[in-house]
Amino acid sequence: MKITMIGTGYVGLTTGTCLADLGHDVTCLDIDKKKIDNLNSGKIPIYEPGLSDLVKRGVKEKRLFFTTDTKSAVESAQVIFIAVGTPSKENGDVDLTYVESAAATIGKFINKYKVVVDKSTVPVGTGDMVAEIIRRTISAENKGNEKKLEFDVVSNPEFLREGRAIKDFMNPDRIVIGVTSTKAKDLMLSIYKGLERPDKPILFTDIRSAEMIKYAANAFLATKISFINEIARLCEKEGADVKMVSRGIGLDERIGPKFLSAGIGYGGSCFPKDVKGLISTGKSRGVDFKILKAAEAVNVEQREIMIEKIKSVIPKVKGKKIACWGLSFKPNTDDMREAPSVTVIKRLLREGAEIVAFDPVAKEQAEKELVTTTGSKPVVFAETPYDALDGADCLVIFTEWDEFRNLDKNKMKELLKSPIIIDGRNIYNPDEMKELGFTYISFGRQDIRME
Ligand code: NAD
Repeated sequence: MKITMIGTGYVGLTTGTCLADLGHDVTCLDIDKKKIDNLNSGKIPIYEPGLSDLVKRGVKEKRLFFTTDTKSAVESAQVIFIAVGTPSKENGDVDLTYVESAAATIGKFINKYKVVVDKSTVPVGTGDMVAEIIRRTISAENKGNEKKLEFDVVSNPEFLREGRAIKDFMNPDRIVIGVTSTKAKDLMLSIYKGLERPDKPILFTDIRSAEMIKYAANAFLATKISFINEIARLCEKEGADVKMVSRGIGLDERIGPKFLSAGIGYGGSCFPKDVKGLISTGKSRGVDFKILKAAEAVNVEQREIMIEKIKSVIPKVKGKKIACWGLSFKPNTDDMREAPSVTVIKRLLREGAEIVAFDPVAKEQAEKELVTTTGSKPVVFAETPYDALDGADCLVIFTEWDEFRNLDKNKMKELLKSPIIIDGRNIYNPDEMKELGFTYISFGRQDIRME
């Protein structure tokens, strides 16, 4: 199958690369020339485990190509995926500018029947809008053979998780395909042939339901996180341990154990914007999403709570050296979009703290995000987690990288000026931290405070 991926970001690059690995002939198109030049010279723009090797293989075996040549990318493809960004506007609405421009591009260069697959996360009704833009552009281009230029639009939302995107693509929980034409359905089936399992099916729906499934899934997961964070607040007051509570409720098959980790809250390029997007779509249709508004508000508050927890041990951060571990919004990715660390670190910097940060892969992205405001000191990046601790007044943990779990805690204690840890991801055992003599503040559990 000849496939073009419009948009070579996290989703476009990983999906395109995996499709090439399945044997398809994939061209990844992007308007960002630097990104494409880098990819063509072997430089992968994002950190995603396993991606680099797969890209190398696809390129070497001539099934994976990177280009900025829109015309040939559109003309040569049987199936075109739209995988461009759909960020939030200031007011929370979904900004569909990039999707619109991708659709117009397809309309401009379409030369024969094509299936246009919306992989970006888009509000219900976008499939119709994409079809309309393509049709309008074909007419405006006045190609003379409009009637012959047929196409079908399909919705195929993406569920991969950054940090395990390749595994998720190769072993998906489900593949959702919103489609109305049989011809398009058959083409989509041959693209994903072999990935479905008896308990992990390809689910065919209408286009609008497929679009809705993606938002509903992300909004539900975000709500689950905010729910456990509110339970955590009560656990702290009542002497309960939220980790035990999560385990206890997660063992119930109706609830499930995932997305029940209390802490600093969700971030990333999807949950915050998709929750906002669904609230906004609901509003435009007269549906007031009370639950989602609450989930969003709780999530924003978790960052404030993190700051309060830091202040509870260091009331005045001015001039204090604060070590920060893990900057990306979750482990195994360098994605800094909407990372909770950014809100908290920027506040600490504004209040005069000195930040020494360590992240295994996100340094480059973090440097862009944590550009300092007037008067504050620039963030210093340490080479190792231990280096960040040297002489620091406390350690703040933002991301639960596995490597942080088993470091030598005695060495950590020796390096820190004061043995204080504020843990936004509950990675350590409070009893052990007490025995070792740390002041250990976490979420939804009882604080350990050393005099
Ligand atoms: P991204 O910002 O990493 O990548 C988007 C890419 O599209 C950029 O490289 C940009 O230059 C390119 N682009 C924009 N307009 C273009 C055009 N007209 N032609 C060619 N290229 C163009 O975004 P992403 O994280 O890959 O997300 C893409 C979509 O997938 C979003 O709708 C997102 O919500 C959804 N999604 C993301 C994830 C995730 O984990 N990142 C998971 C599931 C779904």
